[in-house]
Amino acid sequence: MRDHTMTINGRAVAGKRTIEVVNPATGKVFAEAPDCTREQLDDAMQGAKEAFPAWRDNPGLRTEVMLACADAIDAAAEELSLLQTLEQGMPLDQSRGVARACANSFRRYADLQIPAEVIQDDGNARIEVVRRALGVIAVIKPWNFPLVQATTEVAPAFRAGNTVVMKPSPYTPLSTLAVGELLREIVPAGALSFVSGGDQVGQWMVEHPVPRGVSFTGSVASGKLVASAASADLKRLLLELGGNDPAIVLPDVDPGELAGRLFWTAFRNAGQVCIAVKRAYVPESLHGAVVDALAERARAVKVGNGLDDGVEIGPISNAMQFERVKGLVADAIAGGATAVTGGRALDGPGYFYEPTILTGVREGSRIVDEEQFGPVLPVMSYRTVEEALERANATSFGLGASVWSADPARAWAVAQKLESGSVWVNTHDGKNERAPVAGMKWSGVGAKNGLWSILAYTDPQAVWLSRSGPTTYPAASQPGALTSA
Ligand code: NAD
Repeated sequence: MRDHTMTINGRAVAGKRTIEVVNPATGKVFAEAPDCTREQLDDAMQGAKEAFPAWRDNPGLRTEVMLACADAIDAAAEELSLLQTLEQGMPLDQSRGVARACANSFRRYADLQIPAEVIQDDGNARIEVVRRALGVIAVIKPWNFPLVQATTEVAPAFRAGNTVVMKPSPYTPLSTLAVGELLREIVPAGALSFVSGGDQVGQWMVEHPVPRGVSFTGSVASGKLVASAASADLKRLLLELGGNDPAIVLPDVDPGELAGRLFWTAFRNAGQVCIAVKRAYVPESLHGAVVDALAERARAVKVGNGLDDGVEIGPISNAMQFERVKGLVADAIAGGATAVTGGRALDGPGYFYEPTILTGVREGSRIVDEEQFGPVLPVMSYRTVEEALERANATSFGLGASVWSADPARAWAVAQKLESGSVWVNTHDGKNERAPVAGMKWSGVGAKNGLWSILAYTDPQAVWLSRSGPTTYPAASQPGALTSA
């Protein structure tokens, strides 16, 4: 395996020390990545600060660069997908889809128009509200979809005129570093640096005096530490944190048909999806039939090395998460739950875990209250819809939730009572470029996607022109304002 380097101020930078990267399909170390030092991080931050004014003031260049980035990623998609499967475990076909999304992040934002709003234009004054880039953004990401996470924040941050220093998860740094290696040839030096390393590097980034914004995706526990550290100098924050999404099934569904659609909303990417269904609430009358139909699907899934043909679910992505999932299932079973199917790791090397359907799970047990982030779904029964709603909302998480019914109007009425940033009817993963992605309660702070991301990476500025003095006002807004882009 070749050496992987960080990209700092347009240059390849090797680690003075390294972290090991494990292939979750074998459980073996297969590569090393640099463990960024404080001095190296300082260089990246200083370069990003110096690059900021010229980058902010040249929206045309930013658009050109972003389109070139997208093309370069597309051209290297096969190599990137392979690397992502090796370090993260997901099936190669799915990895290719994530690589396409990585490139498309840049295309989506390259010429997104952000209208400035004129809120008064009369004999007294002209008042315009524009969005101003924050400066340097520190972006910190987890390990579940490394390639899309490599660019999904960079693109809107760039569009808004910011420069970025980005860190992937220590479990999956390689595909992101490889993106950096491609983009260092395209992006002006300093505008985008990629560093790698452990949690400590993330802490240094948040505490660093240079960034004016922090974009953090990860667990609630880390998110709280990030929020606390960022408050020291009031950095702007976008926090996308964990979820424990409930799915409420209404009594009018066909169990077989429901299972066909619900199954993959819980088990895609081995359940390691922030908005995966993590708890299902099913009416008593249908519980047995829904459990049977879900278990049948689970038994039919091909689990294996993501590089092998036909594999639908790869390993759990790292040893820490593998142990966590095993512990949560063991705890549920010790508390009286039954694994109708699964409930155990596969024999042999690697972090493979059988897709698991649990019944008899007590409300208040860890698998219900915590985020499992793995291939396990507790299916619980309820008596009244009101009771199901109460149990679904009895959590400090609030990322996503869904209602499933043959009667969409009825489902919609129920959905409106769910406390989460996204609510779906008869699906659990709809996406639209203009819909905000946000978490209620502990699942996040701020909203992202399309214009929502631009708002997150800018501050509003009110620009006043008094009409009592000279009255000619330039047609275009201030340098760097998003109107002229
Ligand atoms: P994590 O919080 O352990 O780590 C995420 C990143 O933060 C890593 O790069 C890590 O090195 C860094 N980090 C850890 N502690 C830090 C600190 N104190 N300061 C700064 N950086 C720190 O999370 P994880 O285990 O990598 O990811 C899984 C979690 O991410 C799950 O809870 C999942 O739901 C969540 N997630 C949320 C979304 C979303 O959009 N809401 C998307 C994907 C994943």
